[in-house]
Amino acid sequence: MTPERILSDLIRLNTVNPPGNEIRVVSYLKELFDAARIPYEIMESAKDRANIIARLGSGSKKLLFLSHSDVVPAGEGWDFDPFCGDICNGVVYGRGALDCKGLMAAQVYTLLQLAREVVPLNGTLILAATADEEKGGHFGIKYLLENCPEKIQADFAVNEGGEEPVFWNGRMIYFIQVGEKGTAWSKLQAAGKSCHGSVPALGDNAVLKMARALNNLAGYEPESRLIPEVECLLQELLRLKGLDGAVKKENVDILLNGFDDKSFAETLRAMTRMTVSPNVIGGGSKTNIVPDFCSASIDIRILPGQDQKYVIGELRRYLGEDILIEIDNYVAPTFSTSQSDYYRLIESITREMAGEEISCLPHISPGATDSRFLRSAGIPSYGIGHMAREFDQDVRTTIHGKNERIDVPSLYFKADFLMALARKYLS
Ligand SMILES: [Zn+2]
Repeated sequence: MTPERILSDLIRLNTVNPPGNEIRVVSYLKELFDAARIPYEIMESAKDRANIIARLGSGSKKLLFLSHSDVVPAGEGWDFDPFCGDICNGVVYGRGALDCKGLMAAQVYTLLQLAREVVPLNGTLILAATADEEKGGHFGIKYLLENCPEKIQADFAVNEGGEEPVFWNGRMIYFIQVGEKGTAWSKLQAAGKSCHGSVPALGDNAVLKMARALNNLAGYEPESRLIPEVECLLQELLRLKGLDGAVKKENVDILLNGFDDKSFAETLRAMTRMTVSPNVIGGGSKTNIVPDFCSASIDIRILPGQDQKYVIGELRRYLGEDILIEIDNYVAPTFSTSQSDYYRLIESITREMAGEEISCLPHISPGATDSRFLRSAGIPSYGIGHMAREFDQDVRTTIHGKNERIDVPSLYFKADFLMALARKYLS
């Protein structure tokens, strides 16, 4: 088996979530593991939803390879069948090629290769292919942590979540994700007094109250906060740009405003502060009735070190006392330090694989992956998005978009990296 063959097969198994049907991937991997005599366990979390955990070697050192088997819906407008899995001119085509069946294929390939080796591992390599990542992990990683945490207990994990490498001022930069922002989705409510719309002065218009509050919020100026890892990332980017001076929270915006690549600059900016985006609003019932109620839903993302109290305090400053604030969906930010032997090992192997002239830097993700659950369970987790050096930079927009694909050299790059990591850590 080759990684591109495995990936092609995985793409052809439709695991769009909802409904998921991840049992299809589990059955496929089961056959591969059976043929290779690799021990595994299958954990069914619901009908047609399952997780598979394979392990190689034994011993107290434990390394976890994590990936998820579900994918997001394909949507319209593709130039090819999203589930074709075609391998053509060195590219594998289809939904999941990057998120996250490509990583899964590389992890499975690595396990199959290592299973053939005469020298056994001095430790345990665990591979977990989990369901339901795209919808919150209830039937996947959360299920495993609640029902059989010992099966995925490891010293550290390697998962998706790292940014793909970028070409920046003449140099390739590889990333290792060390943390994920948390969510504090909030519901705002304004109350008023209704009356006939023909004499509005007799009422108290809740829609206008909310509009004023949101207008204030539009002027929100979050304080910037530099986590040491993000500071290190920005400092290195500046150095590569040929600029001197230290990155401080006072000058971070000036620096980011000078970056040509706006989407990269805004992603970096989101790593330095809480973000607030009012995305849904509703109030009133009829054109001739002054509304006594209005609500709004705000997408709020917070950095490691910020919490619910911080969010309420920030909102209160802009919304005043008249608006009811409720955080109705809270997921804490998570973080694994770069000051660990695990991080240093991942970094050194990345350099070995990609060449000493690259930069390898830590980052925080504005969004979330299954790593947040592992970190909350005490397992340091690091995200990678490693690709071959000459990969097509255009593919990064195909994640959760159309025409998702990956080049075969990038699959081998991932596999070689994982192989070297397993060999080195478990030797
Ligand atoms: Zn994913």
